[in-house]
Amino acid sequence: MPSSLQCINCAQQYPIQRVIYACEACGGLLDVRHDFDALRKPISTDTFDDRLGTFEAPYNSGVWRYKELVYPGIDDGSIVSRMEGNTNLYVLPRVAAFAGINTLFLKHEGENPTGSFKDRGMTTGVTQARILGMDRVACASTGNTSASMASYAARAGMQGIIFLQNQQIALGKLAQGIAFGATCLQIDADFDRNMELVRLVSEKLGVYLLNSINPFRLEGQKSIMFEALQQLRWQVPDWIVVPGGNLGNSSAFGKGLLEMLEVGLIDRLPRLAIIQAEGANPLYRHFNSGFRQFEAVKAETIATAIKIGNPVNLQKAIRALEWTSGVVEEVSDQQIMDAKAIIDGVGIGCEPASACSVAGTKKLVERGIIKRGDTVLGILTGHVLKDPEATIAYHADQLADLSPMYANRMRQVDANLDEIVRVLAESAPSASDYT
Ligand SMILES: *Cc1c(COP(=O)(O)O)cnc(C)c1O
Ligand SMILES: [Zn+2]
Repeated sequence: MPSSLQCINCAQQYPIQRVIYACEACGGLLDVRHDFDALRKPISTDTFDDRLGTFEAPYNSGVWRYKELVYPGIDDGSIVSRMEGNTNLYVLPRVAAFAGINTLFLKHEGENPTGSFKDRGMTTGVTQARILGMDRVACASTGNTSASMASYAARAGMQGIIFLQNQQIALGKLAQGIAFGATCLQIDADFDRNMELVRLVSEKLGVYLLNSINPFRLEGQKSIMFEALQQLRWQVPDWIVVPGGNLGNSSAFGKGLLEMLEVGLIDRLPRLAIIQAEGANPLYRHFNSGFRQFEAVKAETIATAIKIGNPVNLQKAIRALEWTSGVVEEVSDQQIMDAKAIIDGVGIGCEPASACSVAGTKKLVERGIIKRGDTVLGILTGHVLKDPEATIAYHADQLADLSPMYANRMRQVDANLDEIVRVLAESAPSASDYT
């Protein structure tokens, strides 16, 4: 058996087909461990470069292209895929200038099938559910996990059950969960409480839990690093900058990067910068206290995808920070929404949480931690259409405690030619407005 589950604290191992989410000996988080030495062929960059552009499943997916690193030995017939991944890597000089650096690459994970990176973890998570013979899957969600799970569950013919916080979910995400046919439970509790509830219910009813505590999710999300490095021709950037909520992605990045080093795809590790919202910053506080006493917080931020006060993957994220000499930064809702307006304004766009990557880079440059000449790879985690209300409220200056620096105001104009010509003359652009 080339793969197993292993506790990150006490190294206790479990068979890969066991349905457990924590170590039975010590309660620690579990890793999926693959035996890369046992692979028939050694892994090289050619293995993956040869598959670029293929129509052949499963290698046409930006997750399963790296099958040897994601889930070696799996029967291709079990894979539930929507050809996720294959997202663009953008070079945006205007956004780089805003952040204060010369070279900024932004990988847009909002270009996944359901509009967030969650699809990369859901293809592996739902595939494992199928291997285990599950017919029901569940998650607590701030929105994107549920949108993604609902889609993949439908593709696999399973019932998806989602635990949502009443009224706090962004509209685009809620619409997806309903549209894809999931059973949507609106619960009067925040994400952290819903996370506890979904664990209890899953255990009691034997429903397969697909939050990022499920280690198979992170195996798929590792591929963000694989694909980004492949797009960079395997040249390692100085920094990887990513928003942190439940810390699944940062944990997956740490593991993926270390594995790439281990099999020789890269020759050094980049530094990881995890960015949290000021109102949902438990890792930031913990980092600044030298990882002494962890305290959960009551989360509040406009970036609902990272509105999490008690992240389940905390220990894995700490490990990722240690491996990569990483740092943690916090940014305000004002900084998040202004950075978002810059990313949106160049025609790319993202949801609020994603803008942490740019707002956080800017702050780390101002603090002298990231240098102007460093190469930075930022991750845009979700699509601009996920949270239209936040975007419109920002540009209409309707957000409390926040004044938009880059508002694009709508103009009311009479249905009259002269009037329209007059208004357009006032708002003629200068050449430097666009990049
Ligand atoms: C889930 C999500 C995050 C947070 O990722 P974690 O793995 O929970 O830290 C950030 N941005 C978006 C758009 C997300 O959907
Ligand atoms: Zn253990």
